[in-house]
Amino acid sequence: MWDFSTDPEFQQKLDWMNRFVREEVEPLDLLFPSGGDPYDTGNEAARAILRPLQQQVREQGLWACHLGPELGGQGYGQLKLALMNEILGRSSWAPTVFGTAAPDTGNAEILAMFGTEEQRKRYLRPLLDGDIVSTFSMTEPQAGADPKEFTCRAWQEGDTWVIDGEKWFSSNARYAAFLIVMAVTDSEARPHERMSMFIVPAQTPGVTIKRNVATMAERDELDEGIHGYIRYDHVRLPADAMLGGPGEGFKVAQARLGGGRVHHAMRIVGQCARAMEMMLERAVSRRTQGERLADKQAVQAMIADSWIELQQYRLLVLHTAWVIDTQPHGAARTQIAMCKVAMAKVHHDIVRRALHLHGSLGTTHEMPLAEMWMSVPSLALADGPTEVHRTTVAKQLLRGVEPAPGLFPSEHIPPKREAARRRYADVLKEYGL
Ligand SMILES: Cc1cc2nc3c(=O)[nH]c(=O)nc-3n(C[C@H](O)[C@H](O)[C@H](O)COP(=O)(O)OP(=O)(O)OC[C@H]3O[C@@H](n4cnc5c(N)ncnc54)[C@H](O)[C@@H]3O)c2cc1C
Repeated sequence: MWDFSTDPEFQQKLDWMNRFVREEVEPLDLLFPSGGDPYDTGNEAARAILRPLQQQVREQGLWACHLGPELGGQGYGQLKLALMNEILGRSSWAPTVFGTAAPDTGNAEILAMFGTEEQRKRYLRPLLDGDIVSTFSMTEPQAGADPKEFTCRAWQEGDTWVIDGEKWFSSNARYAAFLIVMAVTDSEARPHERMSMFIVPAQTPGVTIKRNVATMAERDELDEGIHGYIRYDHVRLPADAMLGGPGEGFKVAQARLGGGRVHHAMRIVGQCARAMEMMLERAVSRRTQGERLADKQAVQAMIADSWIELQQYRLLVLHTAWVIDTQPHGAARTQIAMCKVAMAKVHHDIVRRALHLHGSLGTTHEMPLAEMWMSVPSLALADGPTEVHRTTVAKQLLRGVEPAPGLFPSEHIPPKREAARRRYADVLKEYGL
């Protein structure tokens, strides 16, 4: 059955979230605007504002809702999470306030799914409580989109694992208590079984952040960003540091990406909706040549196109969440890739139009639009570039498609028309056709 409605009880929660994020959380974005601020557990002033807000979220039963009840979450499916993330997308602090900030959400998920009891006790509990933050360290300086090119490796020496190599763009490494690192453990194995995942406490000797790289969207006074370029120099770990089994690195990585991409996609819906709110207000506030911007057809086209594109995209993401919730594991793979591809264009087009409509003001940091605009290229790359996901979609569509039976396509009209004539030959003859 098709049903596009939200149940009234859950809608009440969404309404509470909507008001809370706008009124209580958005001020944090203004006071602590640097990209790393939500992750900096050492920033006491920010934490003093954050903790009571997190407490309110807990009291509403909305803390870490991506987790099952056994881990303190609500066990909401992806559809509800998507609707929640749409609201969280308005603010860069909101995911931290609600205990759903990436990459900690994905890391918590894989710790819950693959971690031993000891690993969960040591790392998962404080992560869920919001006491620490973590890093997912996979991309390397020479290879990102294709993990088969990774060279950072790990091997066993007696009772210890030794990791050696470099990782690039490990977000939040400078604040992380631990890093989940993907390393080659068997270079002779089949490509998807070559790697394993390790939990590395940040203070382990041999872990060095060479640089904290900033994207253009990160405005840090020191011009330092949050994406760690890390050297793992013969880092020694106990035998039980592996997360999942040997050769299961890919499997573990895949497990954390599906839901995360949908949450991300829905946050972009929220961000675009906010850009649209600004666009609409500007259109009815600004006058030119004796009328409002809203009265110009060119502006009306910008508004209408933005809304149509946003609604199309929102439905795609919600449908994807519904497929994850209702169909067997893996059924949503193509849909998730579609969301990732569509996101890049919708985000780019809507934010650009909103910024453009604000004229010179739109280009400044006196409006949130400039920062949104600068995040467009990053978000088209994080979690894999658009092209890679486009390939996933195309390969799925092409799977099992047969070549044309003869020289011409099976939809070639002349033979089909001939077949139709043969089929209805009696009728055609009767009417002299
Ligand atoms: C904001 C941000 C945060 C990130 N956080 C993390 C993190 O926490 N941990 C982590 O491990 N990584 C992280 N990354 C890295 C991210 O996963 C990679 O940037 C991404 O996988 C692409 O890898 P790359 O940058 O090496 O680009 P490349 O793999 O070099 O790709 C560059 C370009 O080549 C083209 N290309 C690549 N492959 C194909 C293909 N198969 N077909 C056609 N064209 C192709 C595309 O145009 C692509 O944009 C982050 C990135 C960003 C921007």
